[in-house]
Amino acid sequence: MLPYKTIEDFDLEGKRVFIRVDYNVPMDEDGNITDDVRIRRSLPTVNYALDHNGRVILASHLGRPKGEPDPKLSLRPVAIRLSRLLEKEVHFIPECIGPEVEKEVERLRPGEVALLENLRFHKGETKNDPEFAKALASLTDVYINDAFGTAHRRHASTYGIVPFVAEAGIGFLMKKEIGYFNKALVSPGRPLLAIIGGAKISTKIGIMESLLQKVDKMIVSGAMAFTFYRYLGWPTGKSLVEGDMVDMAGKIIESAWKGGVKLYFPVDTVVAKEMAPRAESQVTPCQEIPSGWMGLDIGPASIILFEEVIAGSETIIWNGPMGVFEMEKFKKGTLSVARAIARTPALSIAGGGDTDVAINEAGVTDQITYISTGGGAFLEFLEKGTLPALEVLNEKEVAQ
Ligand code: AMP
Repeated sequence: MLPYKTIEDFDLEGKRVFIRVDYNVPMDEDGNITDDVRIRRSLPTVNYALDHNGRVILASHLGRPKGEPDPKLSLRPVAIRLSRLLEKEVHFIPECIGPEVEKEVERLRPGEVALLENLRFHKGETKNDPEFAKALASLTDVYINDAFGTAHRRHASTYGIVPFVAEAGIGFLMKKEIGYFNKALVSPGRPLLAIIGGAKISTKIGIMESLLQKVDKMIVSGAMAFTFYRYLGWPTGKSLVEGDMVDMAGKIIESAWKGGVKLYFPVDTVVAKEMAPRAESQVTPCQEIPSGWMGLDIGPASIILFEEVIAGSETIIWNGPMGVFEMEKFKKGTLSVARAIARTPALSIAGGGDTDVAINEAGVTDQITYISTGGGAFLEFLEKGTLPALEVLNEKEVAQ
């Protein structure tokens, strides 16, 4: 049982159903959508609301327009793409609050859908201004949040609006995201493995500490591993080390040891003299990184080690690359890990930052159980087990 309502709990017939979606899609210079997966993932909720005769109002942000209109960040192209995907007209309203919007919304008939203009064209959205939240609420009979990707933000449309609406709950995408997190973290098949890579310990420390309470095994890789090597007194050359996190690295090792969590680090590394696509490179054991060289990917022995750890796990949570996978020369470790996860029958969830990009490149998107649509939200959910946009729905339930 979830501690908040879902769209299926409401009678939507003839109601103004305001759905906060995440249509923050990538676009090229000419305003063409280059990847519409976020729009596609909203379809189950939008179609459900339409099939149940809701008068559907969709709202989203796109990019970071600094609180004022920016034609390059208009959601109009999204309305056109959505219309094609729904095979239905989508009324685009070139504002998101005010009397004109209210009039347009009043004209919507049951089973019709409108998309509002970019919420962040108003400063009130990111400032969580109560007046802006009230203006959005005035368009709403039933509020549905289906924007997992922004659920870690206390913004007017994700957070501030909730106390001002009569009824509020979540959509199918949000439900799915929460469902996979619960499967992976609340009642996981064991052993449960977390793979944490990426650039900096400082941005992942909370997640690592929190996961150490739950997992059986943890792989720590990417540039982060070098701060641990510094703690162990090994030479790190020019590798990325966070000097002020060295003590913290020691605490992580101690906390894993106390909790009986097995920690795995790369055992060898691909080093180069500079971070450049054609840099000269070689493989060295992690205890022997030569001075003047930097570790930019895991080596072949680490790939074998990690493949074994992955193959022996029932549940896998993955965030962050093993190396500088943006460069051909240093992507092998990351792609090998993606493929190793894809080969196991384990329940696997991945997300945050570039992890989905790496999975795509490895060509294994369909073999990962669930790839989260959230970047920052994925990481915060891993760390805290909840998100502000969900908390506020929960508070509303408790209060009612
Ligand atoms: P994050 O956002 O913390 O998940 O970090 C992702 C970034 O970490 C990517 O852009 C990678 O290029 C970078 N990264 C991973 N491994 C290394 C490494 N060994 N040295 C430098 N950068 C790295």
